[in-house]
Amino acid sequence: MIPELQRAPLRGRLRFHEPAAKHTPWRIGGPVARFYEPASAPDLLRFLQVLPGTDVIVWMGVGCNLLIRDGGFQGTIIAPRRAFDHIEKIAATVVRAGAGVRLPKLARFCAQQGLGGVEPFARWPHTVGGALQVCVSREGQSLWPLVERIETLDRFGASSTLSVATLRERGFPRNAWLIAADFRLDAGGASLSGSNYCGSGRGPLFRDARGRRVNELIRQAGLDGVRCGGIELAADDANYVHVKQGACVGDLERLVVRIQDGVRAKLGVRLERQVQLLGRRR
Ligand SMILES: Cc1cc2nc3c(=O)[nH]c(=O)nc-3n(C[C@H](O)[C@H](O)[C@H](O)COP(=O)(O)OP(=O)(O)OC[C@H]3O[C@@H](n4cnc5c(N)ncnc54)[C@H](O)[C@@H]3O)c2cc1C
Repeated sequence: MIPELQRAPLRGRLRFHEPAAKHTPWRIGGPVARFYEPASAPDLLRFLQVLPGTDVIVWMGVGCNLLIRDGGFQGTIIAPRRAFDHIEKIAATVVRAGAGVRLPKLARFCAQQGLGGVEPFARWPHTVGGALQVCVSREGQSLWPLVERIETLDRFGASSTLSVATLRERGFPRNAWLIAADFRLDAGGASLSGSNYCGSGRGPLFRDARGRRVNELIRQAGLDGVRCGGIELAADDANYVHVKQGACVGDLERLVVRIQDGVRAKLGVRLERQVQLLGRRR
């Protein structure tokens, strides 16, 4: 417990030993020492002030790509979905969205304003923060070409506004998180065809550094349908999984290693794990 918070409780939800499984579409994951969903940016600033300086802090969007191992994570997770869910048009073709805004909401808002560019992402369940963080170096399907500037917050509560040109020059600031992004859009309008999320919301297991189709590589290696404990490769796309009752992150880790070893042995290809794992094994 953090003594300062007993005197004046924080707004939002601060939970201790919170099962990560409750907060991700994977429905698996061990306990998180501190899990905070701030109600507003000032609440988050106060929380950062009282948190021990040595504490490891990780932000979590929807958790499509982030899992906590079964033995738990001793640090703090910050979930920005409530405090950073704002979205507004700030110029004729510029929309500002908080890090916690999910991409379907961003796409709908832009379409209502007659602004195009975001519609390829309208069915992706991710948050703006998670999508920009993970897709930072991806070619093709990335939100980055639309980004004009971002706002970041660091461990000590200092915020900065950075243009894309500055980011290219200096890189993403260390120990800082993205709290909002400005998107320059196309005045030509947008049409959205449905906004159901694609798939289960669980991200792909692997990527291939040379951009080959991972599900084809897994198939060629004769590994489709492989299962470890409660985790099984999906029949329609072998780069995704089904998570069965009683599954755990350890099952997923074993499956990942089995696929990586099998693909390397058969095809000489090293698949890079895409899903991120934090914390201790059980
Ligand atoms: C159906 C589907 C298809 C996908 N296809 C692709 C694909 O083709 N290529 C690809 O690269 N990825 C793909 N992904 C993965 C996707 O890009 C990531 O899962 C995305 O980052 C998830 O967003 P999230 O909000 O769930 O982030 P999370 O999974 O919660 O977080 C992802 C990472 O971003 C960090 N993060 C989250 N928010 C912030 C923030 N505000 N500031 C700083 N760091 C932050 C987290 O700490 C973590 O390291 C796919 C996922 C799904 C579900």
